[in-house]
Amino acid sequence: MTKSSKERRKSAASLVTTQKRRLPFYKKFALQSFGFQLSDVLTNENYSADFIDTRADFILGRLRVMALLFAVFVPLSFVFDLVFLEAKQYQPLLVARLLLAISLFTFVCFCKRNNIRLATTWLLPLAFLLPTLFYVASEVIIHHGTNQEFLAGYDLMPYLIVAMLALFPLTISRSVMVLTLVFIPCLLLKIYTGEVFTLAALNQFWAFSMFSGITIWLQTGQLTMLLKLYRESTIDPLTGLINRRVLVKRLEKEKQQGNLFSLMIFDLDKFKRINDDYGHLTGDLVLASIAKVLTAQLRDDDIIARFGGEEFVAVLANQTASEAFHVAERIRKACENTVIRDKDDNIIKVTTSVGLTQYVTGEDIDSTLNRADELLYKAKSSGRNKVVCQ
Ligand code: GH3
Ligand code: MG
Ligand code: MG
Repeated sequence: MTKSSKERRKSAASLVTTQKRRLPFYKKFALQSFGFQLSDVLTNENYSADFIDTRADFILGRLRVMALLFAVFVPLSFVFDLVFLEAKQYQPLLVARLLLAISLFTFVCFCKRNNIRLATTWLLPLAFLLPTLFYVASEVIIHHGTNQEFLAGYDLMPYLIVAMLALFPLTISRSVMVLTLVFIPCLLLKIYTGEVFTLAALNQFWAFSMFSGITIWLQTGQLTMLLKLYRESTIDPLTGLINRRVLVKRLEKEKQQGNLFSLMIFDLDKFKRINDDYGHLTGDLVLASIAKVLTAQLRDDDIIARFGGEEFVAVLANQTASEAFHVAERIRKACENTVIRDKDDNIIKVTTSVGLTQYVTGEDIDSTLNRADELLYKAKSSGRNKVVCQ
């Protein structure tokens, strides 16, 4: 057992009161003023695996459309080169255009929905680096070109690339990484053409920084909106646990990956009586307290969900039912030993019955859940406050 999980278990065994978790003042200020915390938009460290996948799926869709548009329109714009440029310019440019179109087309085919995390990690930076390299190549080829008005179109490319980045709900750190990938080739180009210390280059740098700032701002807005909607639709507000919909999604993923897992359903015993005796608010407090006990008793990578009213589900990865039995017993005892005090100083104790089963490779998730539910029913009918395992 790690130190942190030991500490968590210790704190859960102690008295659970109505006191709410207090945020540090600066986090509270950020939440109240801007509606989000800086850590939400800075890195993806605090995101759940499911949110990372949901966001990656969203990014992947946009990325494919963007790459496809580029792959089609970059070769088509060759018509303008033919009209405005000389053969020694448009010929190598055609090669560059075809290379970009082919690589982006390959990219679209490569973006498979079954490996969506790859999209945000590697494919997105690549999708922005490739057009930047095309821009650098085109500037080198037509640097001393003939028609200045036409060249303005090429000069705007870095800003267009930065503006397109605003389509994606990225964290600030990832966005800065992609912007750096766009900036470095542009800087190297200026060094190559000897224009790095000119007023024009300074102006371009200023414009690039302004575009980047606005892009980051737009992305942050998109990301916080996505996070807010995601949290509201997937997290149970009373307990802070994921809801049944996300649980089923995560179980489907475990199934897809061919993982072994054990699943247990907890149902609080005679919970209706607590509502009847002390009121619904106290009932809510009991549910939130039991959710804390479950969280404290399980590991970070176990899945814990609020399945329904006073029912919870825990999923233990890579554990057989007999291994998980000890965990279920430990949780059952922890619930039994938990003392809850409500705002009227009533002392409440609650027990739980548990149905525990192991996932059988290839079966439907519904079958696993139904089996656990039947075992839970047996625990109830044979006296409650017990674990029934199969
Ligand atoms: P058993 O031991 O057979 O499970 O008995 P029980 O009373 O726990 O089961 P029953 O299904 O009869 O009652 C469940 C109760 O849980 C009824 C419902 O009012 C209560 N409940 C469900 N969701 C909530 C909630 O969010 N807050 C509160 N306070 N009560 C809830
Ligand atoms: Mg129930
Ligand atoms: Mg119950």
